[in-house]
Amino acid sequence: MEKDIFCRIIEGKAPGRIVYQDDEVVAFWDIHPKAPVHILIIPRKHITSVCELSEQDAPILGKMALVADKIAKQEGISETGFRLVLNCGPDSGMIVPHLHMHLLGGRRLGGLVA
Ligand code: AMP
Repeated sequence: MEKDIFCRIIEGKAPGRIVYQDDEVVAFWDIHPKAPVHILIIPRKHITSVCELSEQDAPILGKMALVADKIAKQEGISETGFRLVLNCGPDSGMIVPHLHMHLLGGRRLGGLVA
């Protein structure tokens, strides 16, 4: 089965502006940023989305949130605030089938529902 683009970024087989990585999580800039700061935080392990998350893998979501907070501080948006977004399934507009958390900030964000 062909690997998704985020697995390829993790493996260094596709370009990515990586801002953070450890043995569980990788974070890189979104290629089409929707805000001055738009970074994606993903698990190294391939999990398709939060809809497919097992109980065993659930702690990775907490880890991703902690990494998002650390990056927000690095990027200087911790005081002004930020939004974390997880998409799941067709109605969310999810396009990449690899669990990812959007970290958005650096401007006043609009209402939640598009
Ligand atoms: P989603 O709609 O939640 O699946 O969002 C996927 C995000 O991945 C979008 O914001 C895309 O702009 C972003 N994206 C897709 N391909 C790449 C890539 N090669 N490098 C960085 N971001 C990407």
